[in-house]
Amino acid sequence: KPSIVWFRDDLRATDNPALRAAADDGAAVALYVFDEESPGIRPLGAASCWWLHHSLLALREDLAALGVPLLLRRGPAAEIVRETATAMGSGSLYWNRRYGEAERMLDAGIKAWARESGMHAESFQASLLHEPWAVTTKQGGPFKVFTPFWRTVSEMDFREPLEAPEPGRGFSGRLPGSEELDTWGLLPRNPDWSAGLSESWQPGSAQAHELLDDFVEHGLADYSVNRDCPDLPGSSRLSPFLRWGQLSPFEVWHAQQGRRRELGDGAAAFASELGWREFCWHQYFHRPDLATANLRPGFDHYPWAWPGGQGGAAQGAGSHEAAASSAETQSAATLLRAWQEGRTGFPLVDAGQRQLWHTGWMHNRVRMVSASLLVKNLGIHWQVGEQWFWDTLVDADPASNPANWQWVAGSGADASPFFRIFNPETQAAKFDPHGSYVGQWIPELTMADYPEPVVDLKVSRREALDAYSSLPR
Ligand code: FAD
Repeated sequence: KPSIVWFRDDLRATDNPALRAAADDGAAVALYVFDEESPGIRPLGAASCWWLHHSLLALREDLAALGVPLLLRRGPAAEIVRETATAMGSGSLYWNRRYGEAERMLDAGIKAWARESGMHAESFQASLLHEPWAVTTKQGGPFKVFTPFWRTVSEMDFREPLEAPEPGRGFSGRLPGSEELDTWGLLPRNPDWSAGLSESWQPGSAQAHELLDDFVEHGLADYSVNRDCPDLPGSSRLSPFLRWGQLSPFEVWHAQQGRRRELGDGAAAFASELGWREFCWHQYFHRPDLATANLRPGFDHYPWAWPGGQGGAAQGAGSHEAAASSAETQSAATLLRAWQEGRTGFPLVDAGQRQLWHTGWMHNRVRMVSASLLVKNLGIHWQVGEQWFWDTLVDADPASNPANWQWVAGSGADASPFFRIFNPETQAAKFDPHGSYVGQWIPELTMADYPEPVVDLKVSRREALDAYSSLPR
């Protein structure tokens, strides 16, 4: 009987416990479901859709080399998984766990159905080093502060990565229909804005492993210094591969651990960034509303300039074209567009936003500076920025993106204090002192048509601090 391995955020053949289990049964079939319909599932942003398309092509090849066919289906996952398993007369169903609330409920429902139908259904830990429910404070609750969280987690043992299954363990009988990837419309057309993404990335496990090896060999030693310099290839650029599971965190962890003794600081700093990834996912597990609610409720009263009114940003946050009702929101909408398009007149921020638009990725330091400008100087709700990043980042994930936005805004767990307002000019002087990064992204920088700053940093900073001081504690 065929065993189905249902791929989700784990698009790899190596260190994939669900795939291994299906292959061990002897007749594995892989299934990917493009699901935009199930309740509570956040539809992918445009850059993520591009990444997914290319990743599925790469996964199909990787699996074909093992003799495992990949079925592609679009629709509500519960229905499609049930339909496929029934049509194939499958004996078992395997997947690696997801941590969003809607996803977990959906998976639990399918598991219950499979078991009632006499099918073996099993899920595995593959995307996080530790399960969110297994890491708790002494009092038994989730950690709210990163340092003790990471101290606790990094002292735990992580399993070794698994090899890909032996070839020849795939199902070779008759398969139900699979859809053509091209019909899913994941790639942009009219206009096709993806040339910069194609120049920058080759989604798939092969490039992920190459990048990892290269980074561990050449980048890790100086990571703790170079990671902050946006003009250098100082960080690993593994984020989209980790997001889509083309590498597992266990593979990345053990790769750095192999050089830990020799490299000390660089490896430890890098390892702790993997820790931030875990911390974000654990927060998301405990707070499924991470992208839509301030973790610190006092921020519900912050007087955002956009969208108008206080509280959440649900209305208008995604609709950049929304009709502005007053002159004030009109100008906030104009400011938002200037920020999105990299025309704020602050070169570091504009370079970052253009890097994001062109490549689907932005350097971490620049993400912090750019987000700070949007939220604290332009007074635009962090959720509006979060949605823009969600749409444009190839590494956008439902945990790290909102958690980092809440960190910058000051509304999150273990957040940067609100009064820490990044000054884009001093940040540029410190981290891009020769202007190589801004020069790369803003060719017109020294010309007359580069815009004047859209906001007075000092005045807007003072206004933000005043607004903050009026919030209820
Ligand atoms: P490296 O420095 O090489 O770090 C290694 C890995 O650690 C990364 O690939 C990533 O998986 C993880 N990591 C590093 N920093 C963080 C962090 N602060 N939070 C969580 N994980 C981290 N990261 C995402 O993966 N997805 C997002 O949607 C995302 N949105 C962000 C939004 C804002 C406003 C900010 C300030 C940061 C965001 N980050 C996000 C975190 C960080 O900027 C990226 O993970 C990092 O820039 C990716 O580059 P890298 O792979 O070279 O990182």
